[in-house]
Amino acid sequence: MNCREIFEALSEFIDEDLSTSTCNEIQRHLDHCQNCRIVVNTLRKTVTLYHSLPPKVMPGEVRTRLHRVISIESSRDHDGGS
Ligand SMILES: [Zn+2]
Repeated sequence: MNCREIFEALSEFIDEDLSTSTCNEIQRHLDHCQNCRIVVNTLRKTVTLYHSLPPKVMPGEVRTRLHRVISIESSRDHDGGS
């Protein structure tokens, strides 16, 4: 998987729709890609926070915003092709 694929998978990660094998693929990529590791760590924190909120303070807007962040990250050309 390259960075772009990771970012695409992260969208599913937020939706809790990732298969175990995809999680493993992501983990393998993160082992050697600090850039993605930082993004994933940030997202994980955000998602954890998001899940810890009571349903009433969990606006759909948060989810929309997360997806927007991911699409910005994935469209950014930072993977260098390797
Ligand atoms: Zn990467």
